[in-house]
Amino acid sequence: MAFFKDKSVPPATKIFDNLYYVGVSTVGAYALQTSDGIILIDALNNTEEAKNVIEPGMRELGLDPNDIKIIIVTHGHGDHYGGAKYLSDKYQIPVMMSEPDWTLAANPQAAQKSGMPAPDWSDAPEKDLVANDGQEVTYGDTSVKLIATPGHTPGTMSLIFPVFENGKRHLASMWGGTGIPSQQGSIENYIRSAKKFASIEKELGVDVTLSNHPFVDDSVKRMRDLRDKPESQNPFIIGEQQVLNYTRVMSECAQAALARMQTN
Ligand SMILES: [Zn+2]
Repeated sequence: MAFFKDKSVPPATKIFDNLYYVGVSTVGAYALQTSDGIILIDALNNTEEAKNVIEPGMRELGLDPNDIKIIIVTHGHGDHYGGAKYLSDKYQIPVMMSEPDWTLAANPQAAQKSGMPAPDWSDAPEKDLVANDGQEVTYGDTSVKLIATPGHTPGTMSLIFPVFENGKRHLASMWGGTGIPSQQGSIENYIRSAKKFASIEKELGVDVTLSNHPFVDDSVKRMRDLRDKPESQNPFIIGEQQVLNYTRVMSECAQAALARMQTN
C-alpha cells in the first residue's frame, strides 16, 4: 500500500474539453463542466486538500469554485468525502452519496477497518442528498448516470457521463470503489456489481475509463503525457473493447480473492 503514502500532487490537468483533474496522486477529484455550473466528483481526504488542491487547481484551470453545483461522492470512505464539508459549507453546495454510505460515513471507525492506513480524514458532512441506482444527475447539458455497485462499500456508486475531445462526444465510466473488500459476501457483491456495470458499459458504448484512484490505471502518467503532448491522441480514450476488458479484470481479481479465501 505504498501508493497511499505518496503525498505528491500532480498539476491540475484538463483531461477533456469538459473534465478537469484537481486531485492528489493517491486519490482523485474531478470537475465536470456543464452548461449550468460544475459537478465535482469526490472531494479528497480533508479540508486542507480542498483548500490547497481543489480550490487552487480549479482556479489555475480557469474554473471558479463558486460555480460548483453539487458534490457527488462515489463512496463513504473519508478519502473521497473528506473535503466535502468544507466546500459544502463555504459555497453552499449539496453533497450526494448513497444511503448505505451516508450511514458508513457517519461511522468512520467502520470505514477504517477496510485496510486503509491511519486516515487523516476530515469529518463527513451532514447527511444530504441520497443517490439512487440508475438515477441521472443533470445540470444544463450534462447528465451523470449513477449505478449502484456495492462491494468495496455497501453503497458504492459508479458513474457514467459524457466527455468531449475537441468537440467530439465520448462516454466515460468511473468505477466507484476499487479495493477488493475482505468479507466474502462483499466480494461476491463486488463480482456481481462488476458484471452488471460491464453490461451497462457495453449497452451504452462507454469508450473512456477514469479512476478515482489515479495510481490504479496509470492516470498520473497519462495526465503528464496529455500536458506534455497536447496534440497527441488522448490516452484516456481506450475504446469500447478495452473498457470491457478493464472492468472484466476487476471482476477477475475479485474472483481470485474469493477463490483464495475458499481454499484457505
Ligand atoms: Zn474506499
